[in-house]
Amino acid sequence: MIPVNEPLLDGNEKKYLNECIDTGWISSEGPFVKRFEQAMAESVGRRHGIAVCNGTAALELAVASLGLAPGDEILMPTFTIISCAAAIVRCGCVPVVIDSDPLTWNMDVERLREKVEEEIDRKGNRKLKAIMVAHIYGLPVDMDPVLELAEKYGLKVIEDAAQMHGQTYRGRRCGGIGDLSTFSFYPNKHITTGEGGMTLTDDDHLAERCRSLRDLCFQPQKRFVHDELGYNFRMTNMQAALGVAQLERLDEIALRKRRMGNRYTDLLEEVEGLELMPRRTDYAENIYWVFGVVLKDEVPFDAKEAIRRLAAAGIGTRPFFWPMHEQPVFHAMGLFQGERHPVAERIARRGFYVPSGMALTEEQLVTVVGALKELLRQT
Ligand SMILES: *Cc1c(COP(=O)(O)O)cnc(C)c1O
Repeated sequence: MIPVNEPLLDGNEKKYLNECIDTGWISSEGPFVKRFEQAMAESVGRRHGIAVCNGTAALELAVASLGLAPGDEILMPTFTIISCAAAIVRCGCVPVVIDSDPLTWNMDVERLREKVEEEIDRKGNRKLKAIMVAHIYGLPVDMDPVLELAEKYGLKVIEDAAQMHGQTYRGRRCGGIGDLSTFSFYPNKHITTGEGGMTLTDDDHLAERCRSLRDLCFQPQKRFVHDELGYNFRMTNMQAALGVAQLERLDEIALRKRRMGNRYTDLLEEVEGLELMPRRTDYAENIYWVFGVVLKDEVPFDAKEAIRRLAAAGIGTRPFFWPMHEQPVFHAMGLFQGERHPVAERIARRGFYVPSGMALTEEQLVTVVGALKELLRQT
């Protein structure tokens, strides 16, 4: 079986990890945590980085730090991981979802504009407080229109850059845009710490809030007296040690990912029946976090069937995200009743991604391409 993802840990990872063990620094108090926070912040041009235990926690910390009131609303894409909506719901806020752009699979910023204007200008909705963007699979969201809307209507912007380590938007680094941004360091992300995440911001006050909330809101003067409920979202020194080693190779990692995506595109763009992500838009070069494909409507089977047939051929795959407005857990909470977002619904049913991890070899890539061609010949 060619696995859908395999990380590459052949830099300084072992050396730094051994340092943690040799020095006895294994908790979040160890020196690699600050080093990793500083290096990450520097890599995206942010002033502050707050390392946490995973990317989902990073999102929850970002939302919590804004101090919104229960029932306040946050706009977000429907086509993303549940972490985005979960962070909003767990903070007592309400997710309002937007359909995807059919070409980039990212949040459709025209739809976003329509929704903001409808809610605020026409309905006078005062509960809309923020926009959470999530860059999906390889191309960033078109951020300028998002930032203009946010500016015009006084909305905060949270940028989920979990899949965008090393990516830029019109020359600005992803993970450095908006009020707060977040990363994940899960093993399928470009930079991994096993489990891990980070919230970043330029705002001193938000950074202070994030640090306090991450660490149970202990107070320096009266340690075990709490004015507020926080979380234990701390990252260990061992995770951060991996992160420091991984980050040393970010340029190389981004280069490999782009090469892989372009190679897949070269070999697949003539194949009938497949929609591929564009190599570039006018604002970014695709960084191919994963190599996703969507089965065209004329293909007589869906992603589920394709995944089954590819598994039989020894190829690991993953289905695309399932839209937030179609999640049973949110329906049970009374959210998204009767909502339709046809672009996201379509790509969720017809899309999947193929092996695209850092350890993928050229030989494996060619095998995957052969299996995809064979799959579509069966139509
Ligand atoms: C992976 C991912 C997350 C969640 O990160 P975890 O570390 O797995 O909690 C959040 N958002 C996006 C877009 C992701 O891809």
